[in-house]
Amino acid sequence: MHAQRKVILFLGPPGSGKGTQATRLSAALGVPAISTGEMLRRECRSGSSLGKAVQSVLVTGQLVSDELINQVVGTRLSQRDCEQGCILDGYPRTVSQARFLDRLLGTLSLGGPVVFDFKVDTEQVIARLGRRRQCPECGHVFTVDPGSQGRDLVCERDGARLVLRSDDNPATIRARLNLYEEHAGELVRYYSARAYHRISASRTPEEVSAELLRNLEHPTERTIVNRPQVPVQARYRAQSV
Ligand code: AMP
Repeated sequence: MHAQRKVILFLGPPGSGKGTQATRLSAALGVPAISTGEMLRRECRSGSSLGKAVQSVLVTGQLVSDELINQVVGTRLSQRDCEQGCILDGYPRTVSQARFLDRLLGTLSLGGPVVFDFKVDTEQVIARLGRRRQCPECGHVFTVDPGSQGRDLVCERDGARLVLRSDDNPATIRARLNLYEEHAGELVRYYSARAYHRISASRTPEEVSAELLRNLEHPTERTIVNRPQVPVQARYRAQSV
């Protein structure tokens, strides 16, 4: 299938499967999947002074500055492999980033983004994040079986020992979920008058991929979501993260 110069972006809380779907869709459409979180983690792994500064933000679950991430995305989207479009996973996370992205896409003569908003049950997110392990060498993410949590697990690509991401610990997960909710309503309002699709992500990866492709091939009416006005803090404090 051809992507027709489409920029696709995924909104959704951490652990909702955006990264998995970005990889799958990238293979199906032949456009790069760009994860801003992964780009930042790569910078941290490089040991540069910027990486050290970024690492201190990542471990707390807070966001890096709009200026920094906009610059990173601006540089990445200007590369040749993005000429036919790309899939953005984890960007934008604030309305200020969304505005910057609109200006950037205009400059690059790429059309307005197609937005998929991943909806997933909070309990499921927490369970998924706890079972997530990452290869420190290649950055590939695995979801491990509940039974194998205590064992040494190795990357099937390069044999490196898998690790828990430094921000996948209970306190940071809670901070990241709260932070996501803080910005989500405003972002959804920003995009809801455009090509906006709400996706139920509590299903198998295959089912979610099929729905994404269906929506891209036959765009249905956009969906407008009214988010429940539940106080953010009350939402996640009750979870046993
Ligand atoms: P992720 O892998 O998408 O969960 O991102 C991991 C971390 O990278 C986040 O918790 C933030 O600290 C940082 N990050 C990723 N994308 C952004 C963004 N668009 N804006 C600010 N910080 C970001």
